[in-house]
Amino acid sequence: MPAQVHLFPCLSDNFGVLLHDPATGATAAIDAPEAAAVEAALQKTGWKLSDILVTHHHADHTDGIAELKERHRCRVIAPRAEASRIKHVDVVVGEGESVQLGSLTAKVLETPGHTSGHISYYFAPEKLAFVGDTLFSIGCGRVIEGTMPMMWHSLDKLRQLPDDTQVYCGHEYTLANIRFALTIEPDNAALRARAKEAEQQRAGGQPTIPVTIGAEKAANVFLRADVPSVAAAVGLAGKPPEVVFAEIRERKNRS
Ligand code: ZN
Ligand code: FE
Repeated sequence: MPAQVHLFPCLSDNFGVLLHDPATGATAAIDAPEAAAVEAALQKTGWKLSDILVTHHHADHTDGIAELKERHRCRVIAPRAEASRIKHVDVVVGEGESVQLGSLTAKVLETPGHTSGHISYYFAPEKLAFVGDTLFSIGCGRVIEGTMPMMWHSLDKLRQLPDDTQVYCGHEYTLANIRFALTIEPDNAALRARAKEAEQQRAGGQPTIPVTIGAEKAANVFLRADVPSVAAAVGLAGKPPEVVFAEIRERKNRS
């Protein structure tokens, strides 16, 4: 039986995710925005929490850890570079290392920029990527601790995953991201189609994720900083992608 994913809303606009391995019963929470919402998801699915896979140290991704660990005695896996800023960590991981969840194996990708030690978890056989606050649908995280080139490099790393990889991110920001992206690429057909789709999803009370890497490459302006028409649209024709990316990110900060 394939891995199962249960997605649920947390806090005001965070996503909670449970990843379940039916072969062994192992179940991971990807981040722990709030214990109560994770508990409710465990109740609903009947799964037993064995692990928490932390993407970065921000409170809206870690506040639920203490309570969940106390109750479930689960293992907490976190980025090595941020371990000192996250409580109750059992295992620290970095680039290229593997994390075992029952019979499932995640490869750790370091994706710094939003925070300096942010990591993503990539389950290659399952075609699943959990990217925290690095990549959002039609957006990306604010560059808070890292540099613009660092964030561009992280996004480029995620962009190189197979097109049919299903991406789960940390927040439901899609509609606002689309409004911004259309100011730069008003004629991008993939973006316009995504706008229609996301509006319908939200109107129906549905989340706008997961999304595939292939779909994001076509519609997410932050992954398109090396597309000549995008560089030209922000007045930076011929400039390196990290420079174009920085301009797009700064415009989004001001929007
Ligand atoms: Zn964050
Ligand atoms: Fe966040």
